[in-house]
Amino acid sequence: MTTLGPINGEHPIPRHALRSTRIVGDDGEESVVATVYCPLKERSATVPECESCTRFHALHFDAPSRRTSVVCDTGQWTSEVKSADPLASVSDHVNPAAPLAGIMTRDVLCVRPEVTVDEITTLLVRHGISGMPVVDADGKPVGMVSRADLLRTAQERGDTEESERATLHLDEVAPLDIELEQGFHVVAPVKVTARDVMTPVVVQLHESASIRQAASLMAYEGVHRLPVVSDDGRVVGILSSLDVLRWFGRSCGYLIPPARMRV
Ligand code: SF4
Repeated sequence: MTTLGPINGEHPIPRHALRSTRIVGDDGEESVVATVYCPLKERSATVPECESCTRFHALHFDAPSRRTSVVCDTGQWTSEVKSADPLASVSDHVNPAAPLAGIMTRDVLCVRPEVTVDEITTLLVRHGISGMPVVDADGKPVGMVSRADLLRTAQERGDTEESERATLHLDEVAPLDIELEQGFHVVAPVKVTARDVMTPVVVQLHESASIRQAASLMAYEGVHRLPVVSDDGRVVGILSSLDVLRWFGRSCGYLIPPARMRV
């Protein structure tokens, strides 16, 4: 049975929140892939796969949070189910074996390597995020691009400092020199893309990994965000150091509001 919209009464069986991965191409077009983390299979499952599963009950749309979940009988109380529980914020202990699937940022915005830094800057500002994965044609991570990368690139391009008096040569055959005042400088019309500024992905995590594995890896590698991938290597989430802190605070019983700014 497939149902879109609220279901009457309480759900006696677990719900698993849908995740979405949006990929922006160099033409500005977006493609979206929606999956759910199946705790029984310990991997991502597509919505059609769930709908053909014998344990599937319904798709549930929660109007206040505007999130859609798969309702099915997995016979276990997962971390994702706990996050839907109003008492989740006062859970009583830290579980370092908690799976990433219930902690990571589930709705991820990605870009292809050909997207320009100007477009990336616009996306970061528009969506209030500070970084995003760069993915290949299969949706597999090849790098991470962050505000720090953009600032470094801008500085290297000379966008942040005045240059000395310069001369602009307009014609190589019959040179026409125009002297520029101090403060003006010549910028070559180079198209800088995600590929040029990204930090190549050297570490990533499978979605079934635990939070203790993730925290250890991030600390060891000195990175603030990691792409989380499914069995086939596609990006299904992103884990930031702030996600880890938020999870820890909630696990200790503190009320932590939902993120206003994703990282
Ligand atoms: S419906 Fe089936 S495949 Fe989908 S999450 Fe539930 S148990 Fe897994």
